Amino acid sequence: MAVKREEIEIEGIPIILERKNIKNLYLRIKPDGTVKVSSPMRLSDDAINEFVLSRMDWIKDTRAKNLENPPKPKVKYKDGETHYIWGKPYTLQLISNENAKKAFYAADDNIIYLPVPKRSNIKQREKLLFELYREEMKKNLSYFLDKCTYFVGKEPKEVKIRNMKNWGNCRKDKRVTLNLKLAKKPPVCTEYVLIHELCHLIEFNHGPRFKALMDNFCPNWREIKKLLNEENNFE
Ligand SMILES: [Zn+2]
Repeated sequence: MAVKREEIEIEGIPIILERKNIKNLYLRIKPDGTVKVSSPMRLSDDAINEFVLSRMDWIKDTRAKNLENPPKPKVKYKDGETHYIWGKPYTLQLISNENAKKAFYAADDNIIYLPVPKRSNIKQREKLLFELYREEMKKNLSYFLDKCTYFVGKEPKEVKIRNMKNWGNCRKDKRVTLNLKLAKKPPVCTEYVLIHELCHLIEFNHGPRFKALMDNFCPNWREIKKLLNEENNFE
């Protein structure tokens, strides 16, 4: 698609204007405050001006809010970054991988050590940290399982730890999967997710009966769910 791009300014606000083969005008504000307007190819400057001015209050409000809450910098797994284990913050420290192959942490110093090759990329470093999470989940799984099966009174056939999109999963054949990234969050989050999956051994859908089970076995599950899913929590 042909795009004619120019930078304009309206009421002192810099705007990126893109004319292209579309039917309507669109305006959006990116997290960094950049204002982008997409317009049909032949629309007049006046019409664009008018459109932007009619939304000026909203533009100014949104940009101010974005500046107050700047977008979180992207995780790069670099020296000095904060990462969480069981809800506690640790400082990441990259070390040579000559003597160690796996990531490990010193609870007293709140440091996670990541043994990396001389030139490592984000993916490699992430993988090391994720393997640490997996180890943590495995190490503590029997604790969580004992506790949660006691509450729910049901046992899964198997529990697997994986890197996945959802926090947990329960299949009809009674196999449960837990997300390895639960190891970042406070332990109560793993308990909540596991109880949720075990409740599926009684009720497969998320209907009222399921919610009643959750209320019974994990009375504050709504708060824990919030803690688990709120953005930037333990990230
Ligand atoms: Zn579910």
